[in-house]
Amino acid sequence: MHKNKPKGPTPDIIRALPKVELHRHLEGAFRLETLLDLARKRNLVDLPLDDVEAFRRVVQMTEHDLPDFLTFLSKFRADWYSTLDDPRRVAYEAVVDAAKENIMYFEMRFSPEHYARKSGFAIEAVIESVIEGARQAADETGIVIAFLVTLGREKLDADEMKRYIKVCQPYLEHGVVGIDLAGDESHYPAELFTSVFKGLYERTGFKSTIHAGEARGPESVVTAVRDLDAHRIGHGVRTIEDEAAMELILERKTLLEQCLTSNLQTGTVQTLKKHPFPKFYKYGVRVTLNSDDPQIQQSDLNDDYTHATHLYGLGIEDLRTINRYSLEGAFQPEDVRQTLIARYDARFDAALRESEPAR
Ligand SMILES: [Zn+2]
Repeated sequence: MHKNKPKGPTPDIIRALPKVELHRHLEGAFRLETLLDLARKRNLVDLPLDDVEAFRRVVQMTEHDLPDFLTFLSKFRADWYSTLDDPRRVAYEAVVDAAKENIMYFEMRFSPEHYARKSGFAIEAVIESVIEGARQAADETGIVIAFLVTLGREKLDADEMKRYIKVCQPYLEHGVVGIDLAGDESHYPAELFTSVFKGLYERTGFKSTIHAGEARGPESVVTAVRDLDAHRIGHGVRTIEDEAAMELILERKTLLEQCLTSNLQTGTVQTLKKHPFPKFYKYGVRVTLNSDDPQIQQSDLNDDYTHATHLYGLGIEDLRTINRYSLEGAFQPEDVRQTLIARYDARFDAALRESEPAR
């Protein structure tokens, strides 16, 4: 009897497929045991260092947490780091873990300010440590990586952000390809940062992605695209609420970096079934699947693919289309994008052939 067999690709096939990750924060991708190790090394006695499950409840979303944006943000602490080996280690491990999920191209975003704030590290030293750790893992695993620098809305004002971007400038040649605006959208709307992002690419060569339409409505997406020149939007969930906002992102072919589990845990959507992802996809919006903060969420990218196939009826070729959108929106020169797309298709076809008997 196959009556209850779920439709669509199985979790095994999903795991085997190559995937593209455009929206994952390093600060939300630390292994729990590494965090505990760093906390013990630094003797953070306000944390339950002898009780893993109690520690987990502080730094990850668990069944004890109600879905809420600010609760989610409260899981990010910045006082873990003793030496520059620590950001190097977490970057290395995050890339190894991404490769295990069969991610073949990974734009890893990180906030240098997060690592520097309580440790006193120089921003340049943080950026170099993260790049070194991630590159080592990329060399070992074959994953292709690039970096986005995240600027936190509640941590830096517009002038400080401009200074940060200047510090980042030399790293454009070392794989830092874009700037991300993140953090508390509810209290710090995008328009506060227009002078930072407007014309950024022309001035600096950095492309931009802006968290918008997550904690605020569709007007936030319109501002990010029209006034801040965002190349991509982080989440953009609430774009669906306004026809003009939908027309704008369709016309500009703006890519939405969607993160299903994150949206559920932040309370952006009530249930995954109600998530607008399938509507966006049907309308031809360039939607993509990404994990956001897998360790905070206790999920990975394969979980989000499984939700999307089971809940929205996506088939295997839809997953190829979504990853094609991701690669077309990757912050890379056109020739690199085309090479990645060809490599993606070859690996996708190979994964399908190998899974043939199981399908
Ligand atoms: Zn994010």
